Amino acid sequence: MINCSEVKRLLPAYLDREITGPNRDAITRHLEICETCRQELEALNADIEGLRSVKTPEPSPYFVTRTMAQIQQTESATRGFKTRRTIGRVLTTAAAVVLIAVGIWFGAMLGNGIAESGNKANRTDEWPFETNSPSFAEVYETMFAGE
Ligand SMILES: [Zn+2]
Repeated sequence: MINCSEVKRLLPAYLDREITGPNRDAITRHLEICETCRQELEALNADIEGLRSVKTPEPSPYFVTRTMAQIQQTESATRGFKTRRTIGRVLTTAAAVVLIAVGIWFGAMLGNGIAESGNKANRTDEWPFETNSPSFAEVYETMFAGE
């Protein structure tokens, strides 16, 4: 008489019809009387069905070609993105430098112009305060060379 653990061990082979003859009959008879092993068989059957449906997808035509093309597309897209980001970063930095330089120059010129106009009789309130407006080089020297 076959027991439950033996049936469970043999179920995959039983399902694959590798077990024939009296052994197969013994398992079949056991399954008829044993609820537990029947459930085991059903679970195993469901597993095998699931595996079959997953494991045998129809390979689409030119699958490899299309996959390779997709990979190359993704790579070049990534490269392009990185390049754009680098250019963007450089441009942002350059713009910031220019803005700061212009800001320093303009601010110094404005301050100088206001100071000059306060002292002089012929003051003009119109930009660019033509009275001795410093050049950028002069402002730079003042700022970084100390007077
Ligand atoms: Zn059993």
